[in-house]
Amino acid sequence: MRPWIENLLALQQVDMRIINLRLRLKIIPREIDKLNRKIAAAEAQLTEAKNSAQKTAHEIKRTESAIAEINVRIKQLQQQSSLIKKNTEYQAMLSQIDTQKDKISDLETALLLLFDQDEEQREKFRETEKEFKAEKNNVSEEIDELTAQAEEVRTEISRLTARRPPLEAKIEADVLVQYQRLLKSGRLPLAKVNAAGICGNCHLKVTPQTMTETRKETVIHCDNCSCLLYLET
Ligand SMILES: [Zn+2]
Repeated sequence: MRPWIENLLALQQVDMRIINLRLRLKIIPREIDKLNRKIAAAEAQLTEAKNSAQKTAHEIKRTESAIAEINVRIKQLQQQSSLIKKNTEYQAMLSQIDTQKDKISDLETALLLLFDQDEEQREKFRETEKEFKAEKNNVSEEIDELTAQAEEVRTEISRLTARRPPLEAKIEADVLVQYQRLLKSGRLPLAKVNAAGICGNCHLKVTPQTMTETRKETVIHCDNCSCLLYLET
């Protein structure tokens, strides 16, 4: 294998690794965002569970004070009734007291349901909170790992980038220019062509003339995708 091929392959190996690492570096922040969104959604669920529990607790207090108010009203009515002389008025008063007692009975039934609801919601909140804490821990760990990984990738890119100049120095200027142009265009700069004349990059057949040149290991481009070619051995 001619030195230009060997040297270019060495440089290409480094550059491909850098390209892949840069891609990874682009993806990591997106993965972190996704994890942050996941934890925000879990936190919203927790808030919702908390709000529901608070709403019921508030409703319990409201019902209890309504019962207390009616009890006061009943006591007042009872005191008033002791002063009434007329039987019809007295009966009317007793009827009023009964109406108030019925109201209390209804409220007490509602209160029992609220107590059940309260217990359920508190339990749900505790469970949601437990799940949230576990999830938050997991996500934090994952984010820490990704952050550390990004740092490692950056270090590796710097290390590889530092290896490029001595590799470039071994390559003829005009070949290097062609290589860089191909690299910038996003194509694989140097590709294998097999004995059947199929380019390893575009998978199309090159012309017999191009094949002859690759056998001689001259600097030659694929007729289809214009990448530099070397013969597979
Ligand atoms: Zn090709």
